[in-house]
Amino acid sequence: MTANNTQVNKEKILSVFHAQKANSLAIGKTTARERIRKLQKLHDLVMKYRPEIREAMYKDYRKPAAEVDMTEIYVVTSEIKHAKANLRKWMSPHYVPTPLAFTGATSWVQYEPKGVCLIISPWNYPMQLTFGPLVSAIAAGNTVIIKPSEFTPHASVIMRKILEELFDESEVAFFEGGVELSTALLQLPFDHIFFTGSPQVGKIVMKAAANHLSSVTLELGGKSPTIVDETANVKSAATRIIWGKFSNNGQICIAPDYLFVHESKKDAFLDAVGQRLKSFYGDDPATSENYMRVINAKQYKRIKSYLDNSVAAGAKIKFGGQVDESDNYIAPTVVENVPLDSDLMQEEIFGPVLPVITYSDIQEVIDVINAKEKPLALYIYSHSQKNIDRIMKNTRAGGTCINNSDVHFFNYHLPFGGSNNSGIGKSHGKFGFEAFSNARAVYRQHIPGALELLLPPYTKLKMKLIDWTIKWF
Ligand code: NAD
Repeated sequence: MTANNTQVNKEKILSVFHAQKANSLAIGKTTARERIRKLQKLHDLVMKYRPEIREAMYKDYRKPAAEVDMTEIYVVTSEIKHAKANLRKWMSPHYVPTPLAFTGATSWVQYEPKGVCLIISPWNYPMQLTFGPLVSAIAAGNTVIIKPSEFTPHASVIMRKILEELFDESEVAFFEGGVELSTALLQLPFDHIFFTGSPQVGKIVMKAAANHLSSVTLELGGKSPTIVDETANVKSAATRIIWGKFSNNGQICIAPDYLFVHESKKDAFLDAVGQRLKSFYGDDPATSENYMRVINAKQYKRIKSYLDNSVAAGAKIKFGGQVDESDNYIAPTVVENVPLDSDLMQEEIFGPVLPVITYSDIQEVIDVINAKEKPLALYIYSHSQKNIDRIMKNTRAGGTCINNSDVHFFNYHLPFGGSNNSGIGKSHGKFGFEAFSNARAVYRQHIPGALELLLPPYTKLKMKLIDWTIKWF
């Protein structure tokens, strides 16, 4: 099924779903060795098609080859290597103690596959946000139906090619299409739905999942704040913020969305930002091979309208501001004096515009952050432990980097995900494996336990024993 099909082939979807359902117990019985072999093949195919993947993403939105390598290929291959190295441990029984009152038994947690899973992915990192969760789903022993975004068709062609070389559709199937296809898939009783996208669509997915009580992982977005305090090293902060914000053209769920800088550091910080923008993208970023584009005209118009509205409301462009509608081009743009009620401070920007707000008291910053939904990420640039502690204890976020931006995403030892509006559930490494697994509780009785002394009839002696148990165990 391709994105060009206007008619969603519901019969085909249903037949693949049923084939996967019939196959899911068999796939669930596969050994760690068999799953590792599949993961290795996926790794090898990603590497084999690396040039085609680079080419596809350049065609989709001029993603530089280096960014494809770092943020698409590496993320998938490192996730695979980590899963391969740890899968035996993850799949083996995790023994836990049994309370003394229940002696005579052993207890353990056995991770078992959820079954038939659905992965719906967005366009901003088309491969890693599709194959990343797929790695976890395969590791956990599931069958999977995938629906990638309709807005990165070239990336989809190559992903389809890789999956068709590796899997029968009764194990992993790839359906291309837009909202209509997504809606049709969401009507099916999946055992787990892993959705990456906007909070608005996340709510639609969760409502649909509720009809079948399908479990969900929702990797959503929102406005991720950055704080540069009076003790920060402004040069390294500028470097790491500019990379975290303007790579992928700001189309990153965890990009610094808006930034607070302490008034004593504002000028030095903005100077460093100007220098860094120049060294990254030259005098004219429109001609730089290192600078991507906004994905499409709809997104371009959305971001530009936020910028225009905020400027009309009094914001001042410090760097950038140049646009070219014919090329979905918006220069890396830094804006000052942005009113807190303007679009740039109310909506997720998801593009190459960074509002910078000056503060004098950290409490003002905390209040602005806490008045919004819980962010997916919050970044602190500081060398004051007191400030770091205060911000950490008085805010909530899916993840935080101290003195860096975005990079917590790359550490597969950390759980990745949001909190409420920015997401439900976690992904990456062991957390991704768990998202696609049911933690089955197993209690095995070996010899008669103490409980058997307390069965009816409830004599006085037994009541005493119960009292004793409550008191001592
Ligand atoms: P989106 O929510 O519009 O679309 C995501 C997927 O949902 C696509 O496959 C799309 O076809 C499908 N979809 C869209 N509308 C639908 C509907 N009404 N019913 C069912 N399915 C529908 O998101 P996007 O524009 O592709 O991506 C941008 C958003 O994703 C941003 O909010 C960003 O922060 C978020 N995001 C989050 C993460 C994360 O890991 N937390 C990663 C990347 C992007």
